[in-house]
Parts: sequence; C-alpha cells; structure tokens
Amino acid sequence: MEESKSFRATELGPLDRLERIMLKDTLALTGAEISANHLPAGQATPHVHSHKRNEEIYLFTGGKGRFWLDGTVLDVKEGSAVRVSPAGVRCVKADDHEALSYFCIQVDAGSLVQATRQDGVLSDVKPQW
Ligand code: ZN
Repeated sequence: MEESKSFRATELGPLDRLERIMLKDTLALTGAEISANHLPAGQATPHVHSHKRNEEIYLFTGGKGRFWLDGTVLDVKEGSAVRVSPAGVRCVKADDHEALSYFCIQVDAGSLVQATRQDGVLSDVKPQW
C-alpha cells in the first residue's frame, strides 16, 4: 500500500483470483463503499438483498452471468453496467460454465449534487513522469 496526505493506493491482484474485497477501510473512502467481486462458474452471491438508503452501481469486468432484479433477469458480461435503487431486491449469479467478475459501488442515493465540470478544478501543475 502507498499513501500520502492526498491519496491511498492498494493492489487487488488478479481480479479472477479474489473472492470479495471491500475497499472502504483499505482506501479510507469517505463517500462510497466499493467491493471487488469474483464468482466462480455456477456460484451466486450468498445474499438476496436490498438496501435502506444506498444505491449500488455494478460494473462487470469479466466473464458472464445473470443479474436478478425484482424478478427481472438481466444477462450481464464484461462491460455491463447496472444501477440499482436502494429498495431493489437483487442477486448476482455467474454463468454455469464461466466465472463473473465485477465491482459494486455503494453511494448514498440522492447525495450527488454536482460532478465533473461543476466540481473539477484545472491545475497548472505539469506532471513529471
Ligand atoms: Zn448491496
């Protein structure tokens, strides 16, 4: 792990070798919880669940599987992105013959009041690579 007063960095290793890593404490996150997840072929997440106030953004990074959302089943694969409202009941399952990797980002629903162009500040600093 590397850190300074303005950043903290870690290495997750090969994403197809991890099971589940929560990054809130590892990276000292203050506005989101992020998990990195890998489901072996045929395996589903252990909990069918919803949330009280957090929406979740699922970013699928490898393999394929299915995403059960309030009775609707979505096919997901590398490149799929899904936002789920707090009350949405959800479960993820890897394909019977292929593993599935994804990140899940939890944020307080409705908390984003500005982003990107409203928040970004251009700097004159020239990086020395
Ligand atoms: Zn959740």
